[in-house]
Amino acid sequence: MFKKILIANRGEIACRVAATARRMAIRTVAVYSDADAHANHVRACDESVYLGGSAPKDSYLRWEKILEAAKATGAEAIHPGYGFLSENEEFAQACADAGLVFIGPPPSAIKAMGLKAESKQLMEKAGVPLVPGYHGSEQDPALLQREADRIGYPVLIKASAGGGGKGMRAVDKSEDFAAALASCQREAINSFGDDAVLIEKYVQRPRHIEIQVFGDTHGDCVYLFERDCSVQRRHQKVLEEAPAPGMTEAMRAEMGAAAVAAAKAVNYVGAGTVEFIVEQRDGGAMNFFFMEMNTRLQVEHPVTEAITGLDLVEWQLRVASGEPLPLKQEQLQIHGHAIEARICAENPDNNFLPATGTLHVYRKPQATAFQRSRVRIDDGVREGGEISPFYDSMIAKLIVHGSTRAEALARLDAALAQVHIVGVATNVQFLRGIIATDSFANANLDTALIERERAVLFDREPLGLPLAAAAAIARQCITEWPAAMPEPFARRDGFRALGEYKRRFDYEFRGEPASATLTYKRDGSFWLEAGGVSGALVVGQFPSGEFEVEFNGGRHTLNVYERDGSSHVFAAQGATKILAVDRLAHAGDTQAEGGRLTAPMPGKVVSFAVKAGDKVSKGQPLAVMEAMKMEHTIAAPADGTVEELMFAPGDQVAEGNELLRISA
Ligand code: ADP
Ligand code: ADP
Ligand code: MG
Repeated sequence: MFKKILIANRGEIACRVAATARRMAIRTVAVYSDADAHANHVRACDESVYLGGSAPKDSYLRWEKILEAAKATGAEAIHPGYGFLSENEEFAQACADAGLVFIGPPPSAIKAMGLKAESKQLMEKAGVPLVPGYHGSEQDPALLQREADRIGYPVLIKASAGGGGKGMRAVDKSEDFAAALASCQREAINSFGDDAVLIEKYVQRPRHIEIQVFGDTHGDCVYLFERDCSVQRRHQKVLEEAPAPGMTEAMRAEMGAAAVAAAKAVNYVGAGTVEFIVEQRDGGAMNFFFMEMNTRLQVEHPVTEAITGLDLVEWQLRVASGEPLPLKQEQLQIHGHAIEARICAENPDNNFLPATGTLHVYRKPQATAFQRSRVRIDDGVREGGEISPFYDSMIAKLIVHGSTRAEALARLDAALAQVHIVGVATNVQFLRGIIATDSFANANLDTALIERERAVLFDREPLGLPLAAAAAIARQCITEWPAAMPEPFARRDGFRALGEYKRRFDYEFRGEPASATLTYKRDGSFWLEAGGVSGALVVGQFPSGEFEVEFNGGRHTLNVYERDGSSHVFAAQGATKILAVDRLAHAGDTQAEGGRLTAPMPGKVVSFAVKAGDKVSKGQPLAVMEAMKMEHTIAAPADGTVEELMFAPGDQVAEGNELLRISA
């Protein structure tokens, strides 16, 4: 076994690899960029080496520098994590050439699976079922159009070099094909430097079910069962679970065998995932087709760890150091059910726009270690840390295990309720919303689940004004006016009538003005009117800091955090925020004014769809930006004429930079 390894990654996955290495008494070397100088992954390792600037190309993708760091620190092997260099066959080869072990498959296997089209040709030969489609090397647009027409619509055009849900276009009819092809190729060349595409039949109501495989250097390969990753947004996974609901023993064995055949066809070594798209037929039958193989550890590997009781990073290290696979196929077993939720810095109500900022509050559920770990959090951040625009938007992964799916689901919801984040927009409430849908609760899964449940998933308000106001006031009562309760009423805006004190509070709630009136009665009790509800308000605080609020027929245990004039309220049933208008002294107005269109976040301008002088109508796409690995379309807020473009494609822009100007 290795004595020291270098972890060529950052964030949660670098911390996760370091944890296993530590348990196995292997020393670790971290690498870091400017933005990560004080990051958790640096602290999690025994030593660290500085790589360079914050942008990945200046740090985590500089592989000569990483090889030098490994040499200089005496590391024998490099764990690439996922993303960055993990699927770069040149890097894997360079490690070997430098006498270092790349903890992953051989370069030839990475290469064989690197391009979706080529890998499909290989899989066809290996007898693995493929989605009907075209994956040839001929790329003449007229030929591609003919192939799409032959396959039959809807079809999916995919960048052969694509990944991370990028470079895909669904096409419903023949007339739309040419335009979709051009746009897909543009994105492909921009993001992956290669515009080759393939075409697949767009499977209806599909499920994404993938198989974890593991190969060793002795020619053995096993599968560690499946994960269902059907719940997706923008073709990216949001919730992942194992085992897949409705999976039969026969189908599991068949998919497992197909995945092992796929891996063996490329002499696979280490951890890999074979992704299948599964067609659901009436009557419950399911057909599976190979989509792609990811030649690395997957983000969602913890659900497999939870149901098998194994540490996949330990397996990676053992296999990379030449040991045989720790277990044989017949020794592997599934226990219970596990679900992972990806907690991301993003705004679901604004088309999942990634968010950046400081984690002013970051509280998480207690991980439990009693007997079997049933709540696990993998993260690479801490309170006070930054979510920067340089890397992806995943803050943490929350993984739960239960003896049944229903138990795991209930545990996940309870654990998500204990995730309190203030300072950066997150998808935590959205995740809880998904878990609560009938579709998810009944395991009626397919990749359109989020779309289908739109009505209940977006723009939800879990608490409502009365409780939000009661919570904000409860916090003020207890922490700001501790000694003498009537003190708030001594202020200018309080007044006295008939021996009672009254005070009005002005708020902004969900973008609308709102108010509440608190009365301090002669008997020393509070009476609150808010959002059309009025009643006695009883407040208290637990030693843990949580508030107890009784109002409107309910008793609630709440966490309330103050930030920039807003009270951020976390309750069992959800979270919300309420802004006290009178306390809004410093918060600047950051909204774009009419005519100015500003970058919603730091990033790169990919393209402009318009030029100066063009007439545009409301909602029309004007520009495409790339930030945090995603493309964002900037649309016209109103009808008008483009006056000026302030940047050129390829330019870096800062948040709030004016991109273009439109006159009415
Ligand atoms: P999974 O492992 O579950 O399939 P994803 O497909 O979402 O997860 O992405 C896997 C990893 O690859 C993630 O770390 C993601 O950030 C990274 N990734 C995705 N797209 C890109 C890209 N265009 N360039 C570099 N890394 C990427
Ligand atoms: P990536 O490399 O970006 O992960 P994949 O080929 O794995 O790309 O596809 C990502 C997602 O797109 C899948 O999980 C699935 O939701 C959807 N998808 C891919 N191929 C098809 C298809 N032929 N029909 C329907 N949906 C598909
Ligand atoms: Mg994929």
